[in-house]
Amino acid sequence: MSSPRLALHWQILIGMAAGMVVGLLVNAFQGPLDAARLASPLLDDAAGFASNANAFVGDMFLRCLRFIAVPVVLFSLVVGASSLNDLRKLSRIGTRTVLLYLSTTAAAISTGLLLANIVRPGSFLPAELRDRLASEVPAGVAEKVGGAAPSAWSTLLDLVPINPFEAIADGNMLQVVVTALAIGGALTLVREELSRPVIQAAEGLTEAIIKLVEAVMKLAPLAVFCLLAKVMAGMGLEVLGALAVYTVTVIVGLAIMTFGVYPTILRALAGIGPRRFFEAIAPAQLLAFSSSSSAATLPVTMDCVEKRLGVGEEVTAFVVPLGATINMDGTALYQGVAAVFIAQLFGVPLDLEDQLTIVLTATLASIGTAGVPGVGLIMLVIVLQSVGMDEEVMKGGIAIIFGVDRLLDMCRTTTNVTGDAMVAAVVGAREGDLLDEAQVRARRVAEELAGLDENP
Ligand code: ASP
Repeated sequence: MSSPRLALHWQILIGMAAGMVVGLLVNAFQGPLDAARLASPLLDDAAGFASNANAFVGDMFLRCLRFIAVPVVLFSLVVGASSLNDLRKLSRIGTRTVLLYLSTTAAAISTGLLLANIVRPGSFLPAELRDRLASEVPAGVAEKVGGAAPSAWSTLLDLVPINPFEAIADGNMLQVVVTALAIGGALTLVREELSRPVIQAAEGLTEAIIKLVEAVMKLAPLAVFCLLAKVMAGMGLEVLGALAVYTVTVIVGLAIMTFGVYPTILRALAGIGPRRFFEAIAPAQLLAFSSSSSAATLPVTMDCVEKRLGVGEEVTAFVVPLGATINMDGTALYQGVAAVFIAQLFGVPLDLEDQLTIVLTATLASIGTAGVPGVGLIMLVIVLQSVGMDEEVMKGGIAIIFGVDRLLDMCRTTTNVTGDAMVAAVVGAREGDLLDEAQVRARRVAEELAGLDENP
């Protein structure tokens, strides 16, 4: 008899915890470690090898997931859009999805703004530390701050790729979504004997990709160990201490969304309890936290939403990729808090109108944020510009919060991914396309038995 295996999310959690501990130890003992490496060439080689191997495993894992992300969006959305051949159903699902995405994003920013105005994190950083941190502008930020923010017109125009193959090759997710929806929608207008083989091919490719996801996820516990060990080893703990109030404000806001607002909406609109939801999507959340990338997490989010939560394939294929591209509640909340924090630091007054402007621009900026690490910080420039902050204040502000950005990125990405899964569950439930817990369990058992049959 085979011994029962620990569930994947526990394995990932253990990998994460171990990675954090090892990374923090390396961080804390950096001085003595460097001295020992200087004294012993052998130790220096071994430490160099360990650090390269560690980075290799983490990066390879992320590459594999990102390799999967574009085809999974493309093929599954083609299937999703083409199966929604009832135009009324398509527009109903589309409208519900977009409305839920926009309203949860606005709720997230408002939560962030409320917290930042109550806690006033900007009043906790001494002026001289503020000036020291503000002078260390990270590379790449200066030119972003100087550049003009893209207009809403050009952002909208940019949704349509000139060349869909280029969009796919560049991994421009928003354009890939538009391409897939257009092709999938158009396939419903084509004679069935022509459209069927194309849809079947896309279906087969989606299934194949899901198999790849499952294979790649076997590496997840080790990979998250490596990713977190690296992040924690390089984390500036001194800056973290100085920005503790700001950091905690963002994290509390994200926790309110993730563990308060989402479960409430889920219970009210989909009748799903928090235990069932979090158990189902735990692997995606843990991966989002470890990778800081909702695009890389996308294949796993889809797998969790469909296979573990029981949302139908059609809805999953439509709602989740769209969410990973445009729905970034965590990023929006973070941008709201960061904008108010920077304003407080530099004494820039923000009246009610400015705060409403932040709600609007942070919604747009979060939609335009790519699901990869650190982009939310760059897109913050648009929010700061919208309330008329001058260039020096923006540069200084971003330099100050840069030191804790990675930690906050991990947390906001987790909220981003949770929000996508929540909306998929609500849309699935409203469409009557959601299995109950017993059905999900029965399907899993049936699949396991079928697997045993194939590989006795
Ligand atoms: N890393 C975030 C994500 O992938 C985006 C950001 O806020 O930087 O969802």
